[in-house]
Amino acid sequence: MRAYLPAYEMVVPRTLDDALALLREGAGAWQPFAGGTDLMVLLEAGRLEQRKFFSIRHLKELRGVEEVDGGVRVGALTTYTDVRRSELLSQHFPMLGQAARETGGIAIQNRGTVGGNIANASPAADTPPALLAYGAEVELVSAEGARRVPYADFHTGYKQTVMRADELIAAVRLSKPSEGARHFYRKVGTRRAQAISKVCFAALAEMEGDALREVRVALGSVAPVVLRCRRTEVSLRGRTPDDETLTAALEELGREVTPIDDVRSTARYRTRVAQNLLREFLSGLRGGGFGS
Ligand SMILES: Cc1cc2nc3c(=O)[nH]c(=O)nc-3n(C[C@H](O)[C@H](O)[C@H](O)COP(=O)(O)OP(=O)(O)OC[C@H]3O[C@@H](n4cnc5c(N)ncnc54)[C@H](O)[C@@H]3O)c2cc1C
Repeated sequence: MRAYLPAYEMVVPRTLDDALALLREGAGAWQPFAGGTDLMVLLEAGRLEQRKFFSIRHLKELRGVEEVDGGVRVGALTTYTDVRRSELLSQHFPMLGQAARETGGIAIQNRGTVGGNIANASPAADTPPALLAYGAEVELVSAEGARRVPYADFHTGYKQTVMRADELIAAVRLSKPSEGARHFYRKVGTRRAQAISKVCFAALAEMEGDALREVRVALGSVAPVVLRCRRTEVSLRGRTPDDETLTAALEELGREVTPIDDVRSTARYRTRVAQNLLREFLSGLRGGGFGS
């Protein structure tokens, strides 16, 4: 059933400080509204319980992609179109561009934001696996001040995060991978566009000779949260991606993911696809077949 629009309130705070003051007013009394692409779906379905919203779309402190301290700061309001158009992100973080190109359609890419994707905390979201593989940090801001949280610690359970009710996501911070790093991102859905992921895979490898000096593997839609696969990483780190290593890593990944059967796919299919993508990633490293 559709929602009754006049039952909802939307205000537009003039500044970031005004927005943070609203959040402090009463835990959970007001909720931020960025692109609205997740919130409007709930509204249309009559499932938007929160009644009081404030728009953050115009807040310049939450915008922009810039170089800082040898890394890159991606403002929470950065849209998928902004990501696609950013030379800085294309050059150093190509998996973000790939995720953005495969998110929704053009209209969603124009409105949907990186901050909204993270805050919405869906385990099937497409940017988070890339952010995990890049070892991102989330910058949170409240009337009390700012703090940074490793993105790998941000999601604590299904739709649960460490973000307090008085906090906003201000930005995501990324350290640049080394020049020769290999980036591997695959989204598997029913169609090539406008599909929610059955499995989303992102991995980053830094090689030293034939060995994996550093490796990060992350997956979406295989657990209650987007998952950094640390045990699989341990099985790979310092090793050459030969057959023995590959077999051990695939087994470890099979134990590490905990997918479910749902309308989009089965747990068995998701596990198998996750393993196939890990195999593709590692096989590509052997021949030096692909890079960023
Ligand atoms: C047709 C369609 C297709 C889609 N396809 C995809 C897809 O392929 N892949 C994918 O991952 N997603 C997809 N989505 C989901 C959605 O577009 C993304 O999750 C998007 O990034 C949400 O951003 P937003 O700015 O629109 O969030 P909003 O809807 O404005 O907000 C979402 C949630 O985040 C909170 N929030 C927003 N910004 C902040 C902030 N800065 N700090 C704290 N909390 C905040 C809001 O309060 C709300 O709870 C799709 C949605 C639709 C409708």
